[in-house]
Amino acid sequence: MEVNFVTVQTKIFAARKIITMYPEQPFATAVAVKDGRILAVGDLNDVTYWVKQSPFTPYEVDTAFQKKVLMPGLIDPHTHVDLQGFIYGGHFVAQIPWPRPEGGFYPVYPSKADVLKRLKELDRELPPGQVLYGVAYDENKAGGFLHIDELDAVSTTRPIIVSNVVFHRFWVNSFLLQKAGIGGENIPPSIEKDPDGKLNGTLIETKGLFSVISAIIGLFNDPEKKTSSILPLFVAGGNTTVCDAILGMVSMRGSIKSYHSLLAKPENKLRVVGLPWWRAGIAEAGSLEKFIEMYKEDKAGSTDKFRIGAVKLYIDGSIISRTTPLGWPGYWDSTPEGHMQENPEEIKSFIIRLHEAGISTITHTNTAAAFQFVLDAVKEAQNRCYRPDMRHRADHCYTITEAQLRLAKELGVAVSFFSTQIYYYGDAHLKIQGPNRAHQITPTATAKRLGVSWTFHNDPPGTPQLPWVGAWTAVHRRTMESGTVLGPEQRVTVEDALRAMTIEAAYQLHLNQEIGSIEFGKKADFCVLETDPLEIDPIELKDIPVWGTVFGGEINPVKGGK
Ligand SMILES: [Zn+2]
Repeated sequence: MEVNFVTVQTKIFAARKIITMYPEQPFATAVAVKDGRILAVGDLNDVTYWVKQSPFTPYEVDTAFQKKVLMPGLIDPHTHVDLQGFIYGGHFVAQIPWPRPEGGFYPVYPSKADVLKRLKELDRELPPGQVLYGVAYDENKAGGFLHIDELDAVSTTRPIIVSNVVFHRFWVNSFLLQKAGIGGENIPPSIEKDPDGKLNGTLIETKGLFSVISAIIGLFNDPEKKTSSILPLFVAGGNTTVCDAILGMVSMRGSIKSYHSLLAKPENKLRVVGLPWWRAGIAEAGSLEKFIEMYKEDKAGSTDKFRIGAVKLYIDGSIISRTTPLGWPGYWDSTPEGHMQENPEEIKSFIIRLHEAGISTITHTNTAAAFQFVLDAVKEAQNRCYRPDMRHRADHCYTITEAQLRLAKELGVAVSFFSTQIYYYGDAHLKIQGPNRAHQITPTATAKRLGVSWTFHNDPPGTPQLPWVGAWTAVHRRTMESGTVLGPEQRVTVEDALRAMTIEAAYQLHLNQEIGSIEFGKKADFCVLETDPLEIDPIELKDIPVWGTVFGGEINPVKGGK
């Protein structure tokens, strides 16, 4: 058989240091790249010598990174790409600084009064009738939920919607509810009422959002344009591969098509692994069995830059939005107990069936109760149909226990922690959950000690796409306002954090044979840093300067970068 290799001239990148994340050759100073792949790694003289002896000449030595540090391109195991594009299409009314795609940060609105003032300003600026969409409102930091009366005071002639920071709660004005036909007999259960029976303007979870979708449909225009506008955020952190944890919330096939077209453009230097959203996929295909067929077909159409990953499922809600059931003895701040957002038994049966069909799953589980359903499902699935190396995963995993992690290890279930919540919302977790549960959240060191595959993520809009804040949080576990170290024994080392962001995330996405370390034969995807994360004071980790990335051998500096 004749094999045709693409031939691109060999390039040797010389660096101050290369952190390979390959334990058998942990450090180097040069990496040779050909056809977008790693041809050789080692010290500069050695690599140059061997390239000269090879048929892979001519070559050039690129010294642009001589004073910089290279590591494998960062992999975010759970983020949102098109949802982030959607959020960035709105107006930030946030209490924490959100990065702008063009560099810098959006202003912060510390209190609810500041937010309402900002909404009034926007109401004056926007064309009449256009939806006013405020994003990333944090009720815990701003001092309480918004209310329909407050939003009616902003406008009674345009629809207003504000989403909370984790996208689990939304607030709207009366005009929007009327436009969506909500009121009288038609009040879906995901729309909240005050104790006096009047609508209070709160929509719970995406079910609530979808019940008013007819009134805000304009917000969904130009998805591809919105998504491409936020791609610089990934380069700014050093990400070369990201996992979009909800693929096709509106239409799976539509989403797949638009990803293929977006990423086929050479200027978009990013690999995306999309996790089909089970509910939309099953609805679109017509049944679970048809969805399985559709999934397999779409997976077969994966390319180098866009792939179909595990099927994404969902069980509970959000702790800081107070929508999830926390279990005994309930919320520490007397919030009424939440509800499972999906029927856990049904999700369990889906996991079992998907496993039998050879399909991995990733399930949203914030609480121990929801995590237990995943463990029980995988246990039963493996008893019925043994399949090694499925790498089923549970995501977020705040209140999971050591006992559960032991079982996860036994079953080969991986976890991805939402570590950055400790920094941004740790003080709220203390109030909502009480001391012991709050200190034990995100038991990273327990997972490490037990040898469970673990990673961490930012999950924007939950927290901003700032992977180094994630690493810093895993290492320090300090909360933003009070500086409390939540669960000091659960801290991990900088090296552990780097591993989680590279080779371990690659493993969890079934891609560790291709990416995640700087190793012969793998893709030439690098994160380029100005300083060495293993040498700086670890307290500076969250602000480590990122120069940009190398993607398949092509350099890709941060927009507006140095
Ligand atoms: Zn998510």
